[in-house]
This record gives sequence, C-alpha cells and structure tokens, in this order.
Amino acid sequence: MAVGVYLRVSTEEQRERQSIATQRDFGVRYCDLHQMPVYETYSDDGLSGTIPLELRPAGIRLLNDARQRKFEQLLVFKLDRLGRDTRLILNAVAELEKYGVRVRSMTEEFDTATATGRLMLTMLSGFAAHERELIRERSVAGTNRLAEEGAWLGGIVPYGYRKQGEKRDARIAISTDPIPGFDLSEADVVSTIFRMSAVERKSCQRIADHLNRACIPCGSAASANPSRDGKRNRRMAAVWRPSHVRNMIVNRTYMGEHVFGKRTKNQNRRLIVRAVPPIVSEQIFQAAQQVLKANRIICRGNAREPFLLRSLIKCGLCGLTFSGMRMKAQREYYYRCNGRQCARGLYGLSGKKCPSKSLNGEYVERLVWADIESFLRNPGELLERLRERVNMREGELQRRQKELADLAERLQQKTIETDRVLALFRRGRIDEATLDQQLDLIRAESDSLQVEIKTATRALSAEDRVARLQSAEALLATLRSRLEGPIPFELKRKIVEILVERVQANIVERFGVQQSELLIAYRFNEPDEPAPLILPRSYRMASRSRPPDDLNTLGDHLRRRRLVLRLLQRHVAEQIGVTKATVHNWETNRSNPSFRDMPAIIRFLGYDPTPASTEWAVRLVQARTRLGLSQKESAHRIGVDPSTLARWERGDREPKRDLAGLASTFLTTAEAVSLPTS
Ligand SMILES: [Zn+2]
Repeated sequence: MAVGVYLRVSTEEQRERQSIATQRDFGVRYCDLHQMPVYETYSDDGLSGTIPLELRPAGIRLLNDARQRKFEQLLVFKLDRLGRDTRLILNAVAELEKYGVRVRSMTEEFDTATATGRLMLTMLSGFAAHERELIRERSVAGTNRLAEEGAWLGGIVPYGYRKQGEKRDARIAISTDPIPGFDLSEADVVSTIFRMSAVERKSCQRIADHLNRACIPCGSAASANPSRDGKRNRRMAAVWRPSHVRNMIVNRTYMGEHVFGKRTKNQNRRLIVRAVPPIVSEQIFQAAQQVLKANRIICRGNAREPFLLRSLIKCGLCGLTFSGMRMKAQREYYYRCNGRQCARGLYGLSGKKCPSKSLNGEYVERLVWADIESFLRNPGELLERLRERVNMREGELQRRQKELADLAERLQQKTIETDRVLALFRRGRIDEATLDQQLDLIRAESDSLQVEIKTATRALSAEDRVARLQSAEALLATLRSRLEGPIPFELKRKIVEILVERVQANIVERFGVQQSELLIAYRFNEPDEPAPLILPRSYRMASRSRPPDDLNTLGDHLRRRRLVLRLLQRHVAEQIGVTKATVHNWETNRSNPSFRDMPAIIRFLGYDPTPASTEWAVRLVQARTRLGLSQKESAHRIGVDPSTLARWERGDREPKRDLAGLASTFLTTAEAVSLPTS
C-alpha cells in the first residue's frame, strides 16, 4: 500500500545547511529498503514548525490526499517535521488518524501503529499539556518581570503621558509637548485638573466646564497615529465630561503609581504596582481625593426622589430635559433644565448656560395632574374622536404605506446613481469638478427624499398610536375608577407615563415679565398635526412672580405694576411710605389701602385704577382719593357741609346750581394732579 512522505525545512535550518534534498534522499532510500511504493512526496521548504500542518501549502495537499485515502501511511524524517511543539505534532497525528493514516518516523522509534508508538503518543500528549503550562507560566513571569521593571506593555496610555520606546523598552513618559494650537501640554492640563480640584475645591462638573470653555481637546479624542503611540484610535466624545475628570482624579498613575494587571479577568493574577513619572505630588493627589469625597456627600443627585414628571419636561429653549431637584433644607422642589446646571446642549456649544426658568415642582405637578384628571373624569369626547379618526384612516393607511415604499425605492436609486458617477470618474470619463457637482446634486436629492421618508414614517406611526389608543378605552375606564379616593404616587406616575408624551417648557413674556408656559403633549396628540386632538393647554406658572391676569382689585394693580417694574414689595413700600407687610396685604387682598395712601399709590401705578365714570358720586370719590383727602377734608375743600358731600357720594343727591360749580372746580383740580408718565 502506498505511503506519503512529508518533508519540511525551516528557514533557520536552511541557513544551517540542512536542505530538503537531504530529507528527500533519505526518504527515497528508506522506502526502497522497506519496499514501500511512494504515492507522493510533500515538501514544505523554508516553513517554520510553528505553523500548523493544515496551514502549510504542502500540508494542505497532504491532508487532502489523506482524506481521499490516497495513502495509508505517512513517513516523516523526524517527528518534529510535523510541528515544533508537541501540541502541533499531536494535532497533526490526530488529524491523520481520523483518515486512518498511521504516522511513522523514519529516524525515531515512532509508529502510531505499534504499541511503542502509542505509548510515545500518550507521553507526548502528557508533555504537551505540561509544555503549554510551562509556556504560559514563562510568559506570565516574563510579562510580570517586564512590568515590574516598569515597561509599558500596551493599553491606552493615560492622558498626560506618551509612550516611549518599543516592546520591552517601552516606558511611559510625561507628555510635555504642547497640545497643537495651545501653549499647554497634556501634563499641564492634568496639573490644572488636580489644582482645580485639590486647591480650588471645584467639582468635576466645574472642571469639565472650564476645560470645555477653554476648548482644550479631550484626552479621548483620536490620535494621529493610534496603533503606535497607545492612544485611542476610535474617535470618542470630543468634550470633557465630569465622569472623565473624575476618573482622572482617582487614577493613581498621576502621583507616580501605576498598577499593572488591574483589568485582567484572571482572579489569581498578581497586581504589580510600579513607579512611573508622577505629574502631581502625592499631597495634591490625596487632597483631590478628599474633595471628591466631600463633594459626593453634598451631592444629593443620587437620591432618586419621586418626581412625578421625571424626564418628561423638555426645555423649549435648548431641548434638554428638566431634572427634578430639591435643595437642601428646603421644602420646595424644582424642575430645572439640565442646560442650566452646566454648559450643555444648544447653549453649551458656545460655553453658555440655558436661560430657561426653573419650575416650582409642586405647582407644575398640580397643574399637569389637574389637566389629566379633567379628561380622565370625562373621557367620552376624547374616545369618540379617536374612534372617528381610526375609521377614517383605514383606506389611507394603505395609500401611505405604498407612498413610503416608493420613496424608499427612489432613495435606493440614488445610491446606484452615486456608484455610476463614481465609476465614470474612475474610468476617467468625467473630471473631478463634474464628479463633485454630480455628487452634490445626488446628495441634495437624497436628503430631500430622506426628509419625505421621515415624514411618511411618522405619519404611519401616528396611525399606530391611534390604533394603540383604541385599546386604551378600557384603560381609561379603569383609571377613572381609581380616581376616587387618594391615589398613591406610583399609580399617579404610571398614569402620567401612559398619557403624557412630554411637557414642553417655554418662556413667554407677559406684562414685560418673563414667565414659563407649559405645553402638554399627550400621547394621543398626533405629532405632525397643527391642531392636536386635545389642545395642549398652556399654563402660566404661578411662581411668586406671576402677575395677575385679571385686575379686579387695587391689590391686583399694585402687584402687576410691581412685577412689571421688577421690584420687591420692600421697594414699593418705600415708595408709598408704608411697611412691606402692608404692601403684601394689599397685593393678597387681605386689606385695602386707606385714602391717605392713594395719591402715592396712583403715582406708583402711573394711572388711576378706578374706571372712568360720568356719575357725580363716582367722580367725587375718585377725585378725593386721588388727592388723599377724607370726606370731611374734601367737603371743606369744596366748601360744603360734610353731610351734603356724603349724600352726593352715596348718590342720594346730585350737586345743583352754584354747588355744582364748586364741585366741578374740585373735580378739575383733582384731575389736574399730574400723574407720572409710565
Ligand atoms: Zn434649556
């Protein structure tokens, strides 16, 4: 039966003047001697034994022929021709045995068909395991030794450092080269961060804000030559984040202590602490840790407080979400735009903070809940209109789906067009300018197609929503039944989550005062519909600075004027000459101003708040109010008896003849009292 002969010489062996010819000659003689017909001689010339047999060119052919049973014995010059370590030899032998091919060494006592050969095979496998273990230990020991010596063995080089040297000579060194476009080096930035934290006791957020304002590139930005210098090669967020700053502050590398092996998954792996050049002193480092710890205790953001509108209020100015927050030692809580806390979002781009107003939590929650409750108690109309909508849209749904499919196909067409134009360019049929022009044209077209697709998709999903809401009928009914009696917070929050998509907080100006306005978008409002199913109601927030909408009392007038002028009650009190408490009582309609205060009040308002009239009674009272006179004083001024004036003011009588003349003169005088122009 035929045999195969396998020959291999590595490049090193070639240098040592061992040649494939030597092995081939030996093989020929061996086969002659044992009278074995040779099917084929496979030779891998200049190939290392570390390459598995199935990856060597001749090895591939050999295994193929073995699979096809072209021979049933494989002869090798020595076992190590199959592989340099026992693992490779065993793999090769096992592979060949699978096809019923026995392996025989021409120079060693090894034949897998003999008992001795089998024994040797068993021993070999024992050795293989042992060898593997040894190799691993040796490599771990080697790595550890290198690590202890301070070699940088790969991984992302911390910000502020750069890699120097290669392989076992690699070290990390402080990066003192200025960052392109700045007079600062990365190490300077690290120092700044630690100084701001340890000395100025700034929070990570403030430090990140500072770095972003200074436009200092973030450490995780991509580096020019990622694979060589150990910096990230993936483009990361280009801004500093508080978490990023925090991670730097707790990194002991910066005080000269690098821990090797802390990211390993192997539990038994020894951590190696080795010295690296420090950027900050240990004292500064420890101080920064203290500040971090202190800031953490003060920070109450971690406590998940039950805010009814959590993550639902969106800022109308910058688009970020409002977060619920409770100040220390305050009963009240607020919702505040996340863009106000630090430079983030739309305004953050230019280093500013969002100018939105915070909302009084209790008040806004009460308003939103009242709105929800109002239609939960009476959902009939809502459901009726929902049903109408769904019925009407049955046919339209199909039309829209087809429309969307068409749009998608047209967009696909644009991709093909791009390929065509590129092909023309590649073949030199069009020049670069034409290429650009064509590509711009195609891009513009596909952009507009994409917009159309988005709109169409949204319209379709609106359909889904309506359909989904059909089944919400039962839900609404259940919810309504739960409204009787106190509602636990969790249920309330659930209801809000089910119904409210978002609450947009806008700023509007009324009476010259900026106020918050809330637009509640319910889930059943259609997104693209200008007139929503249920009009989102707008509220003017009754924070303390809410001017009254209706001016019914003198107090209302005072309050509005004060807020328009952006004054405090204290300031108004000074102007009018009363106490702050008095102004407060007037504004809250707990008391009315006396006639003595009226001239000052009218001066402050800039107008007489009482409506103009043609009646003697009203005009007489108005006139003396404006002058700040009592009825008695007023009667004296006119020159009549107080009881007569009293009768006039009550409307029992009207001034007649020469008394009417006197009264007119008095009215003219009073009206002539100049009012400050507002
Ligand atoms: Zn905002």
